[in-house]
Amino acid sequence: MSLVTRFAPSPTGYLHVGGARTALFSWLYARKNGGKFILRIEDTDLERSTQASVDAILEGMQWLGLDHDEGPYYQTKRFDLYKEVVAQLLAEGKAYKCFCTVEEVDAMREAQMAAGEKPKYNGMWRDRTDHPADKPYVIRFKNPLDGVVVIDDLIKGRIEIANAELDDLIIARSDGTPTYNLTVVVDDWKMGITHVIRGDDHVNNTPRQMNILAALGADIPKYAHVPMILGDDGKRLSKRHGAVGVMQYRDNGFLPEALLNYLVRLGWSNGDQEIFSLDEMVQLFDLSACNRAPSAFNTDKLIWLNQHYMKTLPVEQVAKQLAWHLAEQQLNTEQGPAITDVITVQAERVKTLKELVEVSRYFYEDFAEFEENAAKKHLRGVAAEPLALVKAKLAELESWTTEAIHQQINAAAEALGLGMGKVGMPLRVAVTGGGNSPALDVTLQLIGKERALARIELALEYIRQRAENA
Ligand code: GLU
Repeated sequence: MSLVTRFAPSPTGYLHVGGARTALFSWLYARKNGGKFILRIEDTDLERSTQASVDAILEGMQWLGLDHDEGPYYQTKRFDLYKEVVAQLLAEGKAYKCFCTVEEVDAMREAQMAAGEKPKYNGMWRDRTDHPADKPYVIRFKNPLDGVVVIDDLIKGRIEIANAELDDLIIARSDGTPTYNLTVVVDDWKMGITHVIRGDDHVNNTPRQMNILAALGADIPKYAHVPMILGDDGKRLSKRHGAVGVMQYRDNGFLPEALLNYLVRLGWSNGDQEIFSLDEMVQLFDLSACNRAPSAFNTDKLIWLNQHYMKTLPVEQVAKQLAWHLAEQQLNTEQGPAITDVITVQAERVKTLKELVEVSRYFYEDFAEFEENAAKKHLRGVAAEPLALVKAKLAELESWTTEAIHQQINAAAEALGLGMGKVGMPLRVAVTGGGNSPALDVTLQLIGKERALARIELALEYIRQRAENA
């Protein structure tokens, strides 16, 4: 039988880091085993679910490249199926109508707590047949009264829960709508899910879900509960830690390859290997090598991975992501160097794509002013002569190559008997607006002849103005 996993987010917010990791593990497990990966949107909580969240989840999955083989299914479109299953359980005597009022259930709980017992529904309608005709009711699942449920969790190991601990769960509300545990069970069953990989905040639901599946005569999937992610303060990762949605990582300049590599290492390891391509992850991933203990988020490591991938991925792949950032900053890349060339010269110098855009604006955008400090220091009267000479020498060039540019700058410095610094720094500030850039010849080559000459002229004008105002 072929293996089927699923990712089943509730659309009540963006796709966050924890969800993305669960999705990745489920996806990897399916891909590794030649199985199927299903995407299921658990949108039955009508008050908290939003279309914007659905869109954000789909966008996040797409950006990460976690493609699904089936779906997305929406639980709100499957109510008829859930109702059928509830009716079937009821007809087979595996579920029953409970006519308790909220007050009665509350009173039951209070009495149990006062007696030092764990509060739970006491089964008072389980076997009754004296059903009132016109009172509202919920439908409860008849949980087995004795025995134990055993979860052979693929990550956590064996977990046993006594049925005596579990009460009769509500599977349909008084308005007939199915509850969360019921919809998950029906879907896992009908979708043929063989492996449920999810966060361990669901581990308490699992024995209940297994009991319902057993009552339905369904195959019970294998379960793997992934430990939670902690922030660097040891508390459960949340918005407080700035652990925002996956798309926020894109906005902040991270590559999907870096985030995926980072996520796979949050709770899984393969010896002391840190760098994994997607293909390697698919080959090597296994649930048995997942940690039982929570993992802690570490932003420095994510940054380190991002730098690694900016430098080592095929430049076209980085360019695809960078193009988005450049467009976002309204930089017109049609006038200016190829994005791939900019990546080649800048990737070493930055940590994120966002920074890469910041240090590369001058390739695509003219500026009217120079950075104040750089200009004060380097665009002084003494720089006028070398700048004018360099400009003249560069203007002579017919082929605008790195080598030719290099030669002309050197020739200008030599002619004036100046060291490279005295020529280079003013030139750098002139053409880039600031004091930081890759090697000058490369930088000038990418800026282009026309733009470079115009900017040197602008710098000369700046120096003249400055002299006049002095
Ligand atoms: N919809 C649930 C959630 O987002 C996941 C349920 C499951 O994986 O079984 O937490």
